[in-house]
Amino acid sequence: MVMKKKIPVILTVSVVLLLCSVTMVFAWGVWGHNHINKGAVLALPAEMGMFFYNHVDFIVEESTVPDIRKHMLNDKAEASRHYIDLEWYNFASKANVPEKMADAVAKYGKDSVQKYGVLPWNIEDMMDKLTDAMKNKRKTEILFLAADLGHYIGDAHMPLHTSLNHDGQLTGQQGIHAFWESQLPELFGKNYRLYVGDVHYISDIKKATWEIIDSSNKLVATMLEIEAKLKRDNPEDKQYVMGPDGKPAKNKFGSVIHTYDYAVEYHELLSGMVEKQMRNAIEKTADFWYTAWVNAGKPDLDDLDPESVTERNRAVYKDDIKAFKTGKIRGLRSDKEF
Ligand SMILES: [Zn+2]
Repeated sequence: MVMKKKIPVILTVSVVLLLCSVTMVFAWGVWGHNHINKGAVLALPAEMGMFFYNHVDFIVEESTVPDIRKHMLNDKAEASRHYIDLEWYNFASKANVPEKMADAVAKYGKDSVQKYGVLPWNIEDMMDKLTDAMKNKRKTEILFLAADLGHYIGDAHMPLHTSLNHDGQLTGQQGIHAFWESQLPELFGKNYRLYVGDVHYISDIKKATWEIIDSSNKLVATMLEIEAKLKRDNPEDKQYVMGPDGKPAKNKFGSVIHTYDYAVEYHELLSGMVEKQMRNAIEKTADFWYTAWVNAGKPDLDDLDPESVTERNRAVYKDDIKAFKTGKIRGLRSDKEF
């Protein structure tokens, strides 16, 4: 069996997260990952999208499970799958990039890759596994792998997941990670336009993966510099919600909470960066799923479900797509972190 041990789905995300005592650093948080995976389902062509839609609740719920695995099981190998510290690898050119995960481990050693991250190789690895599961029409595996792949592609669109300065700790901006990926989308995401148009077949997965990583990485300096300037212009009590002890208050995951006015200002100065990265994550997740399906020989997935299930979901699938075309992703009640 290829599947890893899974946390029973009955443990809801919020319950599991509350059990974690460490400071949580996600990419995208619950709101973001939920919306990315659901948006990607709606972006698929109906010939494979109907099967995905039949399981959309699972795909949405599973979108945050890789982070839970990482924190709950304190699994070092899992943690490294969510990021890559490009500064450490310092690739002179793409010709120097190891082909597969095993090549990266052989070149840098297990400890180093676990420390500095393996996100792009993990995405390629997951693609191979998903393609294989589709070829063999292994339903449960298709769903787990597709949902998890959506999580990692989402992570790859969060700029700080490509940098050593993961939480702004190297520039005195601790807390910016959760601010950018969780607090901002929770506050302003309802106005985002997340429709992405038709899917595209990707002929070169490695190239496409590195394009995502590199373009995310290009945003690191901008997102940090904008906030650094804002920080200089605002005293502490204008930046953070303050606790009774006169220090910045923290949310249940140990992240500082920025004030609403400060969030509005930062979000505006980012000129749509968060929205664009989220939309790109939806687009790429759908493109990767679609490519795996094409490379698997376009198997008929509809016969993996009873016809009655498909029939029952058809009308609401249509309605969700209609709403998606106006930019909206309906029907998600994601747990709030802030
Ligand atoms: Zn993650």
